[in-house]
Amino acid sequence: MSKSKSSEAVKVVVRCRPMNEKERAAKFERMVSVDVKLGQILVRNPREASANEHPKVFTFDSVYDSNSKQIDLYDETFRPLVDSVLLGFNGTIFAYGQTGTGKTYTMEGVRNDPERRGVIPNSFEHIFTHISRSQNQQYLVRASYLEIYQEEIRDLLSKDQAHRLELRERPDTGVYVKDLSSFVTKSVREIEHVMNVGNQNRSVGSTNMNEHSSRSHAIFVITVECSELGVDGENHIRVGKLNLVDLAGSERQTKTGAQGERLKEATKINLSLSALGNVISALVDGRSSHIPYRDSKLTRLLQDSLGGNARTVMVANIGPASYNVEETLTTLRYSNRAKNIKNKPRINEDPKDALLREFQEEIARLKEQLEKRSGKKKKRRQRRRGGEGSDGEDLEEGETEDDDEEGEDKENYWREQQEKLERERRAIMEDHSLVAEEKVRLLKEKERKMEDLKREREAGEMLAAKVKAMESKLLVGGKNIVDHTNEQQRMLEMRRQEIAEQKRREREMQQQMECRDEETLELKETYSSLQQEVDIKTKKLKKLFAKLQAVKAEIHDIQEAHINERQELEQTQNELTRDLKLKHLIIENFIPSEEKNKIVNRAFFDEEDEYWKMKPITRIEDDHQMMTRPLSAVGYRRPLSQHARMAMMIRPDMRYKAENILMLDMDLPARTTKEYQEPVIAPKVAAALEDALRDEDEIQVDASGFHSSLGPTPPASASSSLKKPKSGRPRTGKKSSTPTSPFSPASPGSPIYPQSRGLVPK
Ligand code: ADP
Ligand code: MG
Repeated sequence: MSKSKSSEAVKVVVRCRPMNEKERAAKFERMVSVDVKLGQILVRNPREASANEHPKVFTFDSVYDSNSKQIDLYDETFRPLVDSVLLGFNGTIFAYGQTGTGKTYTMEGVRNDPERRGVIPNSFEHIFTHISRSQNQQYLVRASYLEIYQEEIRDLLSKDQAHRLELRERPDTGVYVKDLSSFVTKSVREIEHVMNVGNQNRSVGSTNMNEHSSRSHAIFVITVECSELGVDGENHIRVGKLNLVDLAGSERQTKTGAQGERLKEATKINLSLSALGNVISALVDGRSSHIPYRDSKLTRLLQDSLGGNARTVMVANIGPASYNVEETLTTLRYSNRAKNIKNKPRINEDPKDALLREFQEEIARLKEQLEKRSGKKKKRRQRRRGGEGSDGEDLEEGETEDDDEEGEDKENYWREQQEKLERERRAIMEDHSLVAEEKVRLLKEKERKMEDLKREREAGEMLAAKVKAMESKLLVGGKNIVDHTNEQQRMLEMRRQEIAEQKRREREMQQQMECRDEETLELKETYSSLQQEVDIKTKKLKKLFAKLQAVKAEIHDIQEAHINERQELEQTQNELTRDLKLKHLIIENFIPSEEKNKIVNRAFFDEEDEYWKMKPITRIEDDHQMMTRPLSAVGYRRPLSQHARMAMMIRPDMRYKAENILMLDMDLPARTTKEYQEPVIAPKVAAALEDALRDEDEIQVDASGFHSSLGPTPPASASSSLKKPKSGRPRTGKKSSTPTSPFSPASPGSPIYPQSRGLVPK
């Protein structure tokens, strides 16, 4: 098998589904006609149907009409691809088209109906049949199943469906999905089971399966590894990977009125498909050196299938009815471009990540271990037998023993050993000459030995079982090769393949003839008269004019489609800008600028994951040492009591989830004190007290009154001034220490009189 280094184009086939019940009932016109012989699709335009416009013609590698059988598609188009996967090439099958045109029908088909099975189940059958017929080869087949929805990768075979996977890249093996589960399968039944589990998971997470599947890409991956003894006497491994891709619906997602989350969803859904379109354009263009593989998960993951190391088939599915025409034309143009992509497939020989190699090495290692064990045993047995007086030929014999004999021998060996130990134990028991203690010790020792023996035996058995399990995963064929029915089936298949090949050649020839016809027309013609020449040339002119018109119309249509697309993109951009403005507004007005700056300084874009991420908060500037924040409640948002932790585990009470369910102000405790109330005192006592606490300097005594002794009572003004000032603390004590000046400042010039103090009645 020589490595093919040449490049080959992506093969594009188109399949038109039959009209469905509804379309027939609504009497929709059929706009698409399929010329299987020529590999052409003709589409009439309903808008200008009345005008004598020519139908649009597209030519493909092969086309399938509404009567096409699944098995025909498989034999003609997919079987050669799967065959090359079995040889160690990478292969990819894309199903592209509007929702409801038969992508899933082509890929999966109708389960439980062998006639209507799609590519995926047919390839299972194909692969395992091939393996069963192979000779001197070892195979390992494994399957993975994933889905891309809104630019997130979900492993459809993993237990945790909420988990999202990331893409990684390694220089030696390229782009891969990190932690994607893959299952080694040994038969059609097993791999079918894997597919069913994935399909179930696909529908579980979505409320509306139709809508979900029309918006997500499903990729079923089969990896076939084959090991064969090369001419150099070494085992060589070839690895072929088959990607079976059911793409999201290619129709334009309606974005009108979409806002916020829905807008984001709409832009993300389209991302992978439009990125696929851009990659195709860039590849076909030839001028652009940059191919935007990195723009979406889908294109990154399937990078090899478009312009890389893979054989690729694209099935474009279309609907025949008039209301589908716009989308049908878009699909046909899209796939028409894809025809021009050149791939460079080659056989993947002895890649570093071959699982088969690991398996082989592990089996060899385990076998060696097993060998060592039995080697030890044999030696022991040898010694034993030697002691018994038999000769030493056994060693040679032991090595030529076949499996059965060896197994039997092993059994005997174990039994012997056990019996021997048992015998020895009994002998010790019965030996009366031994001291009791000694006896116990010896017995214990024997028991330990028996225990050891048992363990050793179990370990050996486990090892053997492991080897067996691993070996069973490696598939070898050659068993059914003489099977008569099998042989017949093989002949039948070969015939079918031959027919398919013939059909293909016929079509190619037809296409070539069509081309040449036009060229030679000119050369052949000789004209008998001027009039004839005019006639013929007029006819030709008409024909060429019609062709020119068709091309012009096509240019016009494409321009229109381009403008539409541009407008749509502009609209999306406007909406996103508006969204961005709102976010800016909120940030500018509601987030303190220093906080914003801190966040901006911490944020960085992770190229691997394509996310904005935050650097850890506690980096000390200049010093690159990290400070760790002391943890007060490991694993929780805030410290929790033991009770809360228990309650959280036992019942789903929101109260204990440490969430802020409701923000409440603090409850103040009930008041236990009273407002101060002055005691009630008799007016007389009150007055007396007042007097006693009065400041000296506030006391004004009318001396004249005293002088005349019987004079009038002090004036009202004086009595009012006796009132103690409100804020006044009795300051009498302080002042009393200083000798009272004979001239009171309140009454300058008045004679000296003793001032009243204490409870002196007036
Ligand atoms: P898609 O996956 O592209 O959205 P489906 O594969 O679900 O479309 O097809 C929509 C319907 O059309 C299904 O009921 C399917 O059985 C039917 N259908 C599609 N293609 C064919 C075909 N070639 N022959 C018969 N029925 C078809
Ligand atoms: Mg589908």
